Order: sequence, then C-alpha cells, then structure tokens
Amino acid sequence: AKAEGRGRFRFFEADMDAQMQARRAIELDLRRALALKEFELVYQPQVDLSTQAVVGFEALLRWRNARRGLISPAEFIPIAEDTGLIVSIGEWVLRTACREAASWSHPAEVAVNLSPIQFRDHKLVQTVISALAHSGLEPGRLELEITESALMDETDTVVATLKTLRGLGVRISMDDFGTGYSSLSYLQKFPFDKIKIDQSFVRGMGDNAEAGAIVRAVARLGTSLGMKTTAEGVETQEQLDAIRAEGCSHVQGYLTGRPMSGADAAALLASRGAK
Ligand code: C2E
Ligand code: CA
Ligand code: CA
Ligand code: CA
Repeated sequence: AKAEGRGRFRFFEADMDAQMQARRAIELDLRRALALKEFELVYQPQVDLSTQAVVGFEALLRWRNARRGLISPAEFIPIAEDTGLIVSIGEWVLRTACREAASWSHPAEVAVNLSPIQFRDHKLVQTVISALAHSGLEPGRLELEITESALMDETDTVVATLKTLRGLGVRISMDDFGTGYSSLSYLQKFPFDKIKIDQSFVRGMGDNAEAGAIVRAVARLGTSLGMKTTAEGVETQEQLDAIRAEGCSHVQGYLTGRPMSGADAAALLASRGAK
C-alpha cells in the first residue's frame, strides 16, 4: 500500500510539473501578445429593463494566438495577474474600449473590467485620464467594474483611488456581487453606482427559493442605496421574468445579447438609434 501511495504521489507530482510547464509556456506567449496585436475586445449588451433599450456594453478581453487559437480570459488573466502583465494589458483594454465606444453613433456606456492588480499601479488614474482624453469619450460613458478582491487589502488606498476616478465623472460598479466574503461591508465603504449580481444567483433562481430571495434582497438594497442592479448571466425568458419581478434595473446575459465584435456593437446601436 505504501509503494502504491508513493507511486500516486509521484504521478501527482509529475502532473503538477506538467501544469507548471504549461503555465510557463502560456506566460511566454502572453509576454509577446500585446506586441503581436493578439488581443481583441468583444462587447456584451447591457439592457435597461425599464425601457428594453441597450444602454451599454461590457468590454470583454479575447486573446487569439496563432498556435493556441482562442484562449479564454479565465485561463490567461490569472497568469497575467501573477506576472504583472495585466497592468499593460489592462491599459490596452482601457484605451481600446474608450476609442471604440467614442466611435459609436449612439452615446452608450462602455464597462471595462479592472483587475485588483491594476490598483497597485500608481499610474492607474493617469491611465484612465489619458484614455479618456485620447479617445474623446465623455467620462460619464465609462464604467469601471471591480470585484471586492480589489478592496481586500489596502482598502483605504483603493477607496481613495475610486473616489478620484469618480471625481473624473467615471462610474464604478461592483462586479460578481455576493461571491466574496464581505461584499456588504464594501458597499458601506464606497458608494458604487451599480451592483452586478453574480450569475450563480441568477442560475440558481429556478431551482431554489433562496437564490430568488437573495436576488430580491440585493435589488432592494441597490434601490435603497441609490445603486443600479444588473443581473448577470440571464439565459432564459423565465430568468428574465424572475429578475424583472425581483426588481433588478438592468440585465446582461446570453438571452439579451452575446458578446460581439466592436463593429457589430456599433451596428446594433445604429439600428436601435434609428428606430
Ligand atoms: P465577468 O466580468 O464576470 O464577465 C462576465 C462573463 O460571463 C463573461 O465571460 C461573459 O461572456 C459571461 N457571460 C455573460 N452572459 C452569460 C450568460 O448568459 N451565460 C453564461 N454562461 N456566461 C455569460 P468571459 O468573457 O469569458 O470573461 C470571464 C471573466 O474574465 C470575466 O468575468 C472577468 O472576470 C475576466 N475578464 C474578461 N475581460 C477582462 C478584462 O478586460 N480585464 C480583466 N481584468 N478581466 C477580464
Ligand atoms: Ca465584469
Ligand atoms: Ca461578473
Ligand atoms: Ca467573474
């Protein structure tokens, strides 16, 4: 039994080794990705439930590598964060999203995800100012999405940065609300413009009453704090009806729109605007 145990351990170790090598190989490709122009942004519609109108898009990062094909952000963003590469990649995302949004015929908002690591970059505020200035995008059309992990350490410093960003006229959303340990306590520390209710709650709504109760409570909380609430990951008409009944103000999900190219987002806005 002992030998078998050791064998399993060795097998496990080899497995870890292979994983680390794979990660290291991704890292090497990731270091070249910006220079090789391998990144692109796709845009997912955000719909206002009171008017049914597309009022904005969330910019989502895609990495297309010649050898690897399309790599999911879930796979490469953690590596970009560990290596610090996320700072320059994040800057590219901000500049590109602002530039593309500024070219839309309709003044829809664009939401950009900020990694917690980007808050350790002392130039973050300057980068946002510069992205707005170069694109000509009105600050009120830019929304920055942060998760509570950004607020976990050095909360005071991060809150100060958020206040400076808000002072520019930029909007701030709390992403993946309810998945961390202290989402509620952070709502007290910073007045977010919007709460994005994590997809796990939306997905749970059909099967368990608890998920529906949580969505309702967060929607009410948002209303009383003067924050918008977006339900994420809505895929079915039943889910849409439910989140509407629970009082969410916005929806983002495959049902109301999959992530699409910048050109398709512009065309969608142009067709809606013409109505
Ligand atoms: P997120 O910020 O929570 O983004 C929402 C994710 O849910 C996106 O996945 C989106 O495509 C997906 N989604 C939207 N509606 C539905 C739906 O109805 N059903 C299902 N099953 N999924 C839906 P994506 O694009 O793969 O991004 C994954 C995560 O990667 C994002 O989660 C975000 O944390 C991160 N990410 C993406 N782009 C960026 C970026 O530019 N910067 C940073 N720092 N993180 C990013
Ligand atoms: Ca997000
Ligand atoms: Ca989210
Ligand atoms: Ca997420």
